[in-house]
Amino acid sequence: MAIVSSGSKKSYPYNLNGKSRLLDPKTLEEETKKRNDDSLRPKCWNEFIGQSELKEVLAISVKASLSRKEALDHVLLYGPPGLGKTTMALVLAKELGVKCRITSAPALERPRDVIGLLLNLKPHELLFIDEIHRLTKVAQELLYPALEDFRIDLTVGKGTTARTREIDLPRFTLIGATTSPASISSPLRDRFGITHRLNFYHLDDLDKIIKRAADLLGLSISAEGSQEIARRCRGTPRIANRLLRRVRDFATVQENIQIVDQNLVDNALKLHQVDECGLDQTDRRLLSFIIEAHNCGPVGLETLAAALGEESATLETVVEPFLLQIGFLKRTPRGRVVTSAAVDHLNCDDSLRMPN
Ligand code: ADP
Repeated sequence: MAIVSSGSKKSYPYNLNGKSRLLDPKTLEEETKKRNDDSLRPKCWNEFIGQSELKEVLAISVKASLSRKEALDHVLLYGPPGLGKTTMALVLAKELGVKCRITSAPALERPRDVIGLLLNLKPHELLFIDEIHRLTKVAQELLYPALEDFRIDLTVGKGTTARTREIDLPRFTLIGATTSPASISSPLRDRFGITHRLNFYHLDDLDKIIKRAADLLGLSISAEGSQEIARRCRGTPRIANRLLRRVRDFATVQENIQIVDQNLVDNALKLHQVDECGLDQTDRRLLSFIIEAHNCGPVGLETLAAALGEESATLETVVEPFLLQIGFLKRTPRGRVVTSAAVDHLNCDDSLRMPN
C-alpha cells in the first residue's frame, strides 16, 4: 500500500495564549512536521485497537468487495479528532491492497483541485477527504455524479458555445471524515453506503495503545504508568501518544529511571497541568466561567466563545465532546450547563481553579 498525499492535510495549532494545547485532539503543527503521528500509526487490521463495532462492519464489507472484485462502498467516518479516522482509511487500503490518497476539504477549494484528484484515481483506490463537511458547494456538486455514477460532468467553452462533457471515472471509494456530520449536506451524506461513528476509547483499549506505542518508542513503562496515561488522555489515542512522548521527555531528564511508573507519569503530567481526569486549563477555564459567572448555566455557545476568546466551532468540536462524555457538561436548548460532578471535581483541588 502506498499513501499518496494530495494537497495538505491541514494541522490545527490550537493556541492557548500562544502555546499549543497538549490535550488538543487535532494534529499539532510540530507533529505534522516531525510526522510523529505516522510513526505510531497502526499499519494493519490487527494493530488497530478498539472500535470493535466499526471493525466488524468494515471487515464484512472488505471481505465482500474483495470476493466480488468490486470497489468498497463509500464510507463516512465521524467523531471527534484523534480517534482513528485517517488511520482506519489507511488500514482499509492495506486490507484492500490499494493506494489511499489523502486530502482535506480546505485543499479542494478550486474545481480543478477536485477534477485533478478524481482523474488520477485508479480502479478500487481509496480517496480520503478529511473535514468533508467543509467542501465548497462547487466541489460537492462535482462529487455527486462521481460518487453515484463514477463520472464527472465538465463544462467546456463559454457562453452560447458551452457544452457539457461527461468523463468516466474508475470505480473508487470515497472515505469521508468529519467531526461535524450535521454540517454535511444531505445529498452528499446520502451517497455514502456505510456511515459510522468512532467513539472515545475504553480504558483497556487505551492501555493497549499506550503499551504498543511505548514499545515502538523503546520506553519501559509499568502497568500502572500506562493506565495512568490512559485515564488522562480523554479517551483519544492521539492524545495518549502525545502524553506518552511528554512523559518520555520527563523520564529522559530524570536520573536513574529504569521504568516509567505511575508516580513519574503523575509528576510529568502535573507539570503540564493535565489533571487526573484529563482536564487542562482550557477545560477548567470553560467550566469555571460557567460556574462562577453564570451560576452553572445555561450559557449560550457564542457567549462562551467570546468570554474565553476561542472560536465557537473549536469549543464545540474539540473541547466540549469529552466534557459531555464524562458528564461534566450538558447541552440544553438554552445553552451549556455544568453538572455537580464538575463542580465537585473543580472544588476538590484548589490548584485547579481558574487562574485570575
Ligand atoms: P483522526 O483522523 O480521527 O483525527 P488519526 O487516524 O489521525 O485520527 O489518529 C491519530 C493517531 O492516533 C494515529 O497516528 C495513531 O497513532 C493513533 N491511533 C488512532 N487510532 C488508533 C487505534 N485504533 N489503535 C492504535 N492507535 C491509534
